[in-house]
Amino acid sequence: MKKKGKGKALAIGAAVLLGIGAFAGGGEDTKPEPTPTPQPVRTVATAAPTRRPTATPRPDLIHGQPPESTVYVSSSNVIHFESDCSGMKHYREMSLKDADAAGYEYCSKCVW
Ligand SMILES: [Zn+2]
Repeated sequence: MKKKGKGKALAIGAAVLLGIGAFAGGGEDTKPEPTPTPQPVRTVATAAPTRRPTATPRPDLIHGQPPESTVYVSSSNVIHFESDCSGMKHYREMSLKDADAAGYEYCSKCVW
């Protein structure tokens, strides 16, 4: 005869059910955040110097020549850039800007 040993009753009920419902019990009071004390706005009276954009000094060229250049005005008040233009003999030297301001005409030969 055979005999089967059958008597293990492992019924260790390890039913350790911890109540996880411990979380659902928080009555948190929402604290209002402390209002930051507003800083008094101080108007700093800075004497703002009017800054101009650096104006590029542009030499206004007169007929391609700087105003300070010497020109030769003939006796008939014609501005020449070349002192020997057209065999000119009588002329007077002056700066280009002065001659231009005087309203003299420009020579068509040597003034471009
Ligand atoms: Zn000329």
